[in-house]
Amino acid sequence: MKLQISSGDRQFLLDAALASPQTEVCGLLLGQNKDGTNRVETLVPARNVAADPARSFEIDPATLMATHRAARGQGRQVIGHWHSHPNARREPSSRDAARATENGQIWLIIAGGDVTAWVPHAIGPGPATFQPIAIEVT
Ligand SMILES: [Zn+2]
Repeated sequence: MKLQISSGDRQFLLDAALASPQTEVCGLLLGQNKDGTNRVETLVPARNVAADPARSFEIDPATLMATHRAARGQGRQVIGHWHSHPNARREPSSRDAARATENGQIWLIIAGGDVTAWVPHAIGPGPATFQPIAIEVT
């Protein structure tokens, strides 16, 4: 499995994280998944409505619903989401692991001037584990 993203979209994510040094920024990834290759076609920024946005994120549910609806109408998919880590830790946090489910969604994390991609695996009770996936910048 890998993720393709344009250099412009990758830069947008880096800039968004840089512009928000105190709180996590977040949004959705619209695109296509074909034969294990996920291609990001559109970034959909969303408000972070988490109670503690410095250390966690929660995508505005209104944006979430509207984006899923739009994707269905266009024959596209919500292939995942992104969020930033102001503390520069590139790996998913324990908070991330506690709420991740194995639904095939890609987690993009922007931290320390880099973007990494992950897929959660959740077998049985307890927090998920994340597997890194390769990013191809196009
Ligand atoms: Zn996180």
